[in-house]
Amino acid sequence: MTDAEDQAPTEEREPVLVSACLLGMNCRYDGASNLDAPLVEALAAEDCIAVPFCPEERGGLATPRPAAWIEEENAAAVVEGNSRVLTREGADVTAEFLRGAELARETCQIQGIRRAFLKERSPSCGVCQTHVDNQLVDGPGVTAEVLSRAGVEVVGVEGRRRED
Ligand code: SF4
Repeated sequence: MTDAEDQAPTEEREPVLVSACLLGMNCRYDGASNLDAPLVEALAAEDCIAVPFCPEERGGLATPRPAAWIEEENAAAVVEGNSRVLTREGADVTAEFLRGAELARETCQIQGIRRAFLKERSPSCGVCQTHVDNQLVDGPGVTAEVLSRAGVEVVGVEGRRRED
């Protein structure tokens, strides 16, 4: 083996976007995390680079913050300007949710991210289920909807799982 071959770069590691709360960050609306130990283990086993991202914080909302949900229809309606995201008290946080989703999309574009592991049931991150009118319903949250439209593969993760 030549020196050049000896120093050849190893295969590039894949960056993946991950809901920050799944990695143990205390960014949930109630100030807690959704640490998912099996997910962390799986990403390490795949040698992925986990890029933590909380769209609600990045969109400008504080932690802790009031619970929020899609007012009516679904995330697609929010993205298309036909529905809103409201807090429990009725404050309109649509702009913050859309800003966070757009920043997630930009992060994926800039970093060449093709997969996102997102916390199920969140009005932002939910993939298979989210909250509409304070009800758990099938369908994605706002960030999952925006990332899907951008061609990012979104994977729903349960959260709060432990390896034991
Ligand atoms: Fe932030 Fe998404 Fe986790 Fe909610 S589910 S705390 S928006 S990363």
